[in-house]
Amino acid sequence: MTRTLAEVAAEAATCTRCRLAEGRTQVVFGVGNPAADLLFIGEAPGFHEDRQGEPFVGAAGQLLTRMLGGIGLRREDVYITNVLRCRPPGNRDPLPDEIEACTPWLIETISIVQPSVIVTLGNFATKFVLDTPRGITSMRGGVYGWHGRRVIPTFHPAAILHGGGEKSRQFLELQDDFTLIRKTLDAARAPVEPVRAAPVAVAPGTPVAAEDEQLELF
Ligand code: URA
Repeated sequence: MTRTLAEVAAEAATCTRCRLAEGRTQVVFGVGNPAADLLFIGEAPGFHEDRQGEPFVGAAGQLLTRMLGGIGLRREDVYITNVLRCRPPGNRDPLPDEIEACTPWLIETISIVQPSVIVTLGNFATKFVLDTPRGITSMRGGVYGWHGRRVIPTFHPAAILHGGGEKSRQFLELQDDFTLIRKTLDAARAPVEPVRAAPVAVAPGTPVAAEDEQLELF
């Protein structure tokens, strides 16, 4: 039976699957609408997220919230999570065994939320989700198919803040990516025109073709 997100988060709150359990203030599971069409994946909680128990609440999170507002969405309309649920010490990069230990939480989150569009924020989440060595600069601007969903990679908001800020070329590209997110979401939500197919005679007992199994994965 499928668990609710709250049940999964309650179990994750006591997770000790990797060393990050020792240094965290708390597990930062995710925030937002548990049935959102749109899901954001960042890298890992930072200082403020570790203290407050919510992803993207620091300066990068404030930029994310503003970018969402620019396309008519509030934080509570979407679901926001990270590749890792605990803060790496000193905000260092996640280590391979930490990612491996945390991946089941992300997979279960996606399988419950069932978003039609996933946005990967920055190099780290993009390389991990799309299993690519390509960097964010070459990946952004596109929409990629992934287990029956659409994935849109864009810059991590922290990279914009640490780079040229809102006057930079990257910020303009981030705005373009959010326009693409809005369009992709609208297209995914648009009702599919019913197609009038000629009736097909099926002999009793004939198995009906199974749905794309990949869709069942997540
Ligand atoms: N950066 C991230 O990748 N995730 C957060 O939750 C905060 C900052």
